[in-house]
Amino acid sequence: MEQKEYLQIPGPTNVPERILKAMHRPLVNHRGPEFRELLKFCVEHLKQLLCTENELFIFPSSGSGAIESTIVNFFSAGDAIVHCANGVFGERAGTIAKAYGLNPLPISKKWGEAVQPEDLKVILDNDPEGYIKAVYVPHCETSTGIQQPIEALARVHRECKHPSLFIVDAVSSMAMIPLEQDKWGIDVVISGSQKGLMLPPGLSLVSINAKARAQEEKSNLPKWYWNYGAMRKALEEWSLPFTPPTSLIFGLRESLIMLEEEGIENVYARHEKLANLTRSACESMGLELFVKSDDYSRTITSLHLPENIQWPELSEICRKKYHLVLGGGLGQLKGKIFRIGHMGNLDEQDLYSILGRLEAALIDQGYPVKPGTSAASLIQKYD
Ligand SMILES: *Cc1c(COP(=O)(O)O)cnc(C)c1O
Repeated sequence: MEQKEYLQIPGPTNVPERILKAMHRPLVNHRGPEFRELLKFCVEHLKQLLCTENELFIFPSSGSGAIESTIVNFFSAGDAIVHCANGVFGERAGTIAKAYGLNPLPISKKWGEAVQPEDLKVILDNDPEGYIKAVYVPHCETSTGIQQPIEALARVHRECKHPSLFIVDAVSSMAMIPLEQDKWGIDVVISGSQKGLMLPPGLSLVSINAKARAQEEKSNLPKWYWNYGAMRKALEEWSLPFTPPTSLIFGLRESLIMLEEEGIENVYARHEKLANLTRSACESMGLELFVKSDDYSRTITSLHLPENIQWPELSEICRKKYHLVLGGGLGQLKGKIFRIGHMGNLDEQDLYSILGRLEAALIDQGYPVKPGTSAASLIQKYD
């Protein structure tokens, strides 16, 4: 038989059969009519997903590429940008900014805590000169398993009437957690293909509003591949300035159709439910949640490693014996926490399998839990 593996890392996620099939087809001319139709469909439907009328660019790249594109297109050397410093992805924005000679200003918060509206208000109120050019926030900080209150942060940013751009990294939240770019007043959203869109890695996207576009005019950093001007011009004819990953874009169309068939509100509700079921089942097994506040991510659960259990051994048993792949801790949380991704193509029944496999692997490691505990928790919560 074909062994099924549960890939429960926080992206890439399990790619549905329908999307695999949509990509398994001959290529088309990327400057021909069929591709133009395809790209137009994808751009228009991605905009609907983000609830925006803004222009939206698709790049062949990982999510980090989209972050880099915002840095080189909006800013100049010496510009100050505020970024979150409570996890790997918040810090990455600062690292990329630094690489281009910007002046990154970290918002210091403990890893596992979300940046709150008050934190942002203090920073913006202290900058009447408008020295800060952008505020960069990951919606979900995937390395710690928190979700930041984007709507409230965007509101504070708007109410402070600060000239900076409010930029959201929605790679691990888009198409899983509600995000309304225009209504919430977010200037720029970036995302990627390998999480909520259920695609392989390789596509990123950026949606920018008029305020961001005006900021673009002031940037003097060198750029070619990431140049939004070239992208904008090519998109007028529904093409890209370079060869696009045609197969991935066929997959993207299928993904957008699947999300629309289910209804995006139902997709959001499903993720919320998966997160809550996972959290309570893990707690019933005696595992300690890393994020106890309400700022927990709806797409990933992070857990303290139990005493006497080492991550290399646990992940090895999960993978080899139970065909379950989980995420370890990153950065300063390496060896301290582990992470279960519940993103994308997943339902409640899958949780019996995923958490049951984790439970079995823990028991193999001598962890004291009564067999069947996770299933019992899931059954109780079932309605
Ligand atoms: C996964 C992820 C990224 C993407 O990183 P790449 O490896 O470059 O695709 C960026 N930001 C967040 C918040 C993520 O979860």
